[in-house]
Amino acid sequence: MYVNRKSPFFTGLVDDGPGGNLLEEPGVPGGGGGGGGQLDGVVPVGVLGQPGHHQAPLSSPSRSSPHSQGSETGERFSRKVFVGGLPPDIAEEEITSSFQCFGALVVDWPHKAESKSYFPPKGYAFLLFQDESSVQQLIDACIQDEDKLYLCVSSPTIKDKPVQIRPWRLSDADFVLDASMPLDPRKTVFVGGVPRPLKAVELAMIMDRLYGGVCYAGIDTDPELKYPKGAGRVAFSNQQSYIAAISARFVQLQHSDIDKRVEVKPYVLDDQMCDECQGQRCGGKFAPFFCANVTCLQYYCEHCWATIHSRPGREFHKPLVKEGADRPRAVPFRWC
Ligand SMILES: [Zn+2]
Ligand SMILES: [Zn+2]
Repeated sequence: MYVNRKSPFFTGLVDDGPGGNLLEEPGVPGGGGGGGGQLDGVVPVGVLGQPGHHQAPLSSPSRSSPHSQGSETGERFSRKVFVGGLPPDIAEEEITSSFQCFGALVVDWPHKAESKSYFPPKGYAFLLFQDESSVQQLIDACIQDEDKLYLCVSSPTIKDKPVQIRPWRLSDADFVLDASMPLDPRKTVFVGGVPRPLKAVELAMIMDRLYGGVCYAGIDTDPELKYPKGAGRVAFSNQQSYIAAISARFVQLQHSDIDKRVEVKPYVLDDQMCDECQGQRCGGKFAPFFCANVTCLQYYCEHCWATIHSRPGREFHKPLVKEGADRPRAVPFRWC
């Protein structure tokens, strides 16, 4: 039962850019072997259940990382779990009852409220468990096929269909490639539209292969569920790599069955002083603008932005400002 194919609501995920949902529809085998080999070279899912296992030496997010949650509390997974390849006629209630043996949960999918549908329109959904321990129990109950996890689920017409279960491991949100380098926010880029299964280690490797000098990569996660939001950050150890990355504007992320063009911008901070006046001309307030043009690459207060950008050749620079969700955006600058 396919609901309302023409709906504009199903074109993307809630907090993702256009086309960001491509990877939320994994090729779940209808009993066959499936694509397999996804994200090869990383830790196989089979070790998820082993409490001793983690990638601590390299991914330790101890330095200035906002993603150090988890290790202290013993939590290893997001309470939000992706489930894909659901039978098309499985209703929300049946999904809930299929998984509530692992603990209290809520079933969600992008634009669920607007769609007023009882069925996940694209055959995938998110399970939001009340307790993280439920996720571990769910993983333990899964069947592993290569590096993917499956659990059999039934709908009114389909019995025991294997659906893919994709938990998000908290430690995959950070990866330190070169711990000898300090993390310089001014050599950090924001990567928008990151496919959600992409781990920080993979983002680091892709960007390092393209531009070199990567010392850290992070996947932005939401504070409550600690689940990827579809964006990331990459810090470089040198200015040349940083400039090469932001000059490219777009990057083709290719990794296993991921192949997606994503946007790269300077990572804009909201607590920087104006680089021109150090706050003297703006009452000591943090600089609202960042100029990403390689001839500037500076933070500016309004006054200094106007002064510097009235110079020939700089009139067309566009300021970036920090946007709510870690997302820098270009704003039209008004001369006053
Ligand atoms: Zn200034
Ligand atoms: Zn400029």
